[in-house]
Amino acid sequence: MSTGSPVGSHRVVSPAGALPQAADRLDPDPEIADDEVRISVERLNLDAASYRQLHDAHGGDGEAVRAEVLAIIERRGKMHNPVTGSGGMLIGTVDAVGPRSPLGLKTGQKVATLVSLTLTPLRIDDQLARWDGRSEQVPTSGHAILFARSIAAVLPDDLPEHLALAVLDVCGAPALVRRVVSRRPERTAAVAVIGAAGKSGSLSLAAARDAGAAQVVAVVRDEIEAAQLRGSGLADEIVVADATDPLLLAKKVTKALDGDGADVTVVCVDVPGCEHGAILATATGGTIVFFSMATSFPAAALGAEGLAADVEMLIGNGYVPGHADYALALLRANPHLKDLFIDRVDHANRQIAGLFEQEQA
Ligand code: NAP
Repeated sequence: MSTGSPVGSHRVVSPAGALPQAADRLDPDPEIADDEVRISVERLNLDAASYRQLHDAHGGDGEAVRAEVLAIIERRGKMHNPVTGSGGMLIGTVDAVGPRSPLGLKTGQKVATLVSLTLTPLRIDDQLARWDGRSEQVPTSGHAILFARSIAAVLPDDLPEHLALAVLDVCGAPALVRRVVSRRPERTAAVAVIGAAGKSGSLSLAAARDAGAAQVVAVVRDEIEAAQLRGSGLADEIVVADATDPLLLAKKVTKALDGDGADVTVVCVDVPGCEHGAILATATGGTIVFFSMATSFPAAALGAEGLAADVEMLIGNGYVPGHADYALALLRANPHLKDLFIDRVDHANRQIAGLFEQEQA
């Protein structure tokens, strides 16, 4: 058994010297190094921005989406969407553990990987035959490799797998929101969450409340999403606005906050073009968390400069210590949030349930 690099650089095929996330191509050889773990893959959860891009690029043609995802995995040795640069995560069963792996995993455990698919060596052996290309969750089989510095969570046994997977995919958002809101002086923060009815958005609302935010504003795309949030207790105000319309977004958020901007703005949409609205909707000295993978660094940086906006801007690092446990705890503690979340993944859920029934028949 060979010795691996803790950061997985020994798996990089090209370009030489890159780390796995930046690599064009990884080697998904099933033979593990002494500090690696091999996972027998059961389901991929494609990142929302990636899935939306693929869906839109193929005009909703599921077969074409399926073929492209398969081609990306075969070409790159990982599921790394070259357009959005994002991936997602997966669930599976621990299949082999190298003697020097520090991850504390045991064979047979059902786990979710908490590191991005963009850096996870992956080989699929079923041609994605059980997926119709019409949902973010992809039932499949094959194997994936975790390095010494990867992270994985053992799946909880009190939540359906597809639900846990969807929560864990975005668990960095609520943990970061809690950290940012908690450090505001005397916790007087007014928080605006853009894309608030989505998965990371609804968890961020709950985290803002949990962290003691003085006021929580939910920005949603339409009346349907507003109705989903109403009565949930997750937000004080619900604002319907297109997040890509900066002037309208800022006007509606500041109106909801009696003329002030938000102290903390969290961008959880899955479409590009939301940077300027978020900047305009944020108070001087406030903080913007760009959790969305569709965020453009130049648009955010130059937009803030061009608007002379003195705001702190954070990239939503998907890793915050304790993030998985915190997100799951929020869901367990809040039935409204859980219902919202279940509704959100319901579409994918129904498809997967149908597939399980077919498998068991
Ligand atoms: P999601 O559940 O699909 O939620 C996105 C929400 O944004 C949806 O409610 C969507 O509404 C709404 N939206 C889309 N366009 C909008 C617009 N123009 N105006 C207002 N709302 C709009 O997505 P998610 O899983 O929470 O992911 C959100 C983002 O986080 C994605 O970009 C994803 O890639 C990223 N992400 C980041 C990390 C990280 O580590 N930083 C990890 C995972 C995911 P509709 O459903 O009606 O379109």
